[in-house]
Amino acid sequence: MKQFKTESKRILDLMINSIYTNKDIFLRELISNASDAIDKLKFKSLTDGNVKSDFTIRITPDKANKTLTVSDNGIGMTDIELEKNLGTIAQSGTLSFKSENKEDLSENLIGQFGVGFYSAFMVADKITVISKAFGADSAFKWESKGAAGYEISPCEKDGVGTDIILTLKEDTEDVKYSEYLDEYKLRSLIKEYSDYIRYPITMEVTKTKIKEGSPEDKPEYETKREIETLNSMVPIWKKPKAEVTEENLEDFYRSEFHDFNKPLKSIYSKIEGMVNYDTLLYIPAKAPYDYYSKNYKKGVKLYCNGVMIMEKCEDLIPDYFAFMRGIVDSSDLNLNISREILQQDRQVKAIATSLEKKIIAELKKTLESDRETYEKIFTEFGLSIKFGVYDNFGLKKDALKDLLMFYSSKKQKLVTLSEYVKEMPEGQTEIYYACGEDYDKIDKMPQIEKAKDGGYEILYFKDNVDEFVTKILGEFEGKKFKAVTDADFSTATEEEKKELENKNAENKGLLDFIKETLGEKVKEVRFSSKLKTYPVCLTAGGEISIEMEKVLNSMPNSENKISAEKILELNSEHKVTEKLIKLYNDDRETLKKYAVVLYEQARLLEGLPIEDVSAFVMGLSEII
Ligand code: ADP
Repeated sequence: MKQFKTESKRILDLMINSIYTNKDIFLRELISNASDAIDKLKFKSLTDGNVKSDFTIRITPDKANKTLTVSDNGIGMTDIELEKNLGTIAQSGTLSFKSENKEDLSENLIGQFGVGFYSAFMVADKITVISKAFGADSAFKWESKGAAGYEISPCEKDGVGTDIILTLKEDTEDVKYSEYLDEYKLRSLIKEYSDYIRYPITMEVTKTKIKEGSPEDKPEYETKREIETLNSMVPIWKKPKAEVTEENLEDFYRSEFHDFNKPLKSIYSKIEGMVNYDTLLYIPAKAPYDYYSKNYKKGVKLYCNGVMIMEKCEDLIPDYFAFMRGIVDSSDLNLNISREILQQDRQVKAIATSLEKKIIAELKKTLESDRETYEKIFTEFGLSIKFGVYDNFGLKKDALKDLLMFYSSKKQKLVTLSEYVKEMPEGQTEIYYACGEDYDKIDKMPQIEKAKDGGYEILYFKDNVDEFVTKILGEFEGKKFKAVTDADFSTATEEEKKELENKNAENKGLLDFIKETLGEKVKEVRFSSKLKTYPVCLTAGGEISIEMEKVLNSMPNSENKISAEKILELNSEHKVTEKLIKLYNDDRETLKKYAVVLYEQARLLEGLPIEDVSAFVMGLSEII
């Protein structure tokens, strides 16, 4: 009996005690090793000038003996290679095992080794490897029951290649190891993890068929044992672009991601550069029902050379593109099995950076060349992109700002910020916007009427995040953002402004009286240049807009209510103003009631709740 090298023993212990909850992956690891062994022999045979073509990986479950065998006719191993490759972990290892790390054998560390083969100890008590190396006369057997050690002895084997025979563990209450002898289970594991291995993975399966010569109207059935290839071998993303149609891509999407809807867009790309990878990405037609909830898990399937290593690799996709689904396949990755390691993997990071750029470029291209599709994408997932601009204090704002779209009062559809700026009339120096619950309500805001009359385009913000996005952006192409509810928003000419100043001065007594009546509720009362048919509106003077007040106060943890600095603006052309002037001269008690009613009305128009319902109702009733 030979001992494993110390470091191997430690890793073995961890394997046997299964730190990995996902035991299924052992099969993927063994198949991947088999595929590598075939690759090596194939290469040899190519240079030998005598190309073999019957390469297969054979899976043989044996229920009677409780063994599962993975066989390949690849390069095989000599006794020396068996010793070297299977007696030591990390033969192919990236990291030499440092002595100071010995006590700290975390899962993290493990991921950096080639632990593939040893993962079989998660499901097996005993592993027997029978191998005959290419060019060798005799075969050898390597056998181990785990941590105790292993033995190597000569044995018989017909062809070149390797059989890995796993004697499965006894079933426990928690884990049914015997499941791995199940035809259905094996079939689905191979489909799931190893479908695109380039060599056929075969298994003898039971098939029910119509008996030959049995009458058509009364068919008789018989079961037959047949060798079946379980994997499809060629991944669609490995095919040359010219051979893949849009329809192929859509079909693949539907079956792979179980979505009935046609995707809005597919991105099929072979990237070569700092890192090399093939990618096939999709934008679904609809956000999944839980998309904006905490339960939603983003990520793309990660493959390394046709072997799936992660079902949902989160780190490849930024949060604001969490809606993307798809596949990344790179030959530059190590076949790591630990998630934690992948997160820190340099290659994964490089792919993520490249992928992000690729997606942004593709979206921009779509915006330019296929507006209709882009609008659909933005309608469904624009909110996500807006959060991307806003998150991390605007770290990504420059990369993403051109992807933003907002509803335009003029066009009555979505426009980009650059389109807005291009169409600004001469003299307009800021990007105008208005916030509200929906487009219809925004359209009815008092301030909108006049601005629209003046020929100005206003962007309608109906998502809470919209105004925060403008704050983070600060400006777009040198133009600042201005809410129509801002106190200093005005489309008036210099002349009109002068006139307004005069009016304010003439009626200072009245305006001061209303301000005094309303007290702390408002900072100022003044005549407005913003109104056409409405008598009043509220505007915000300080940093916090009325919309922000609404949003911030609606958050679950907002203990200290936030309040925008409000200015009550009156329409000097409105009949109500005549009445106010009259009351100021004749009946100041009634004027107080008018002041309260007008203030509450202005709140309502801004979508704010009435502050003092009873004062409002009583006041209004008396006035009527
Ligand atoms: P890795 O595959 O990451 O190198 P493993 O522990 O899975 O690590 O395998 C160790 C080594 O054993 C492999 O590098 C390979 O040389 C050899 N090996 C494993 N399985 C086979 C096989 N089926 N045929 C030939 N060699 C194999």
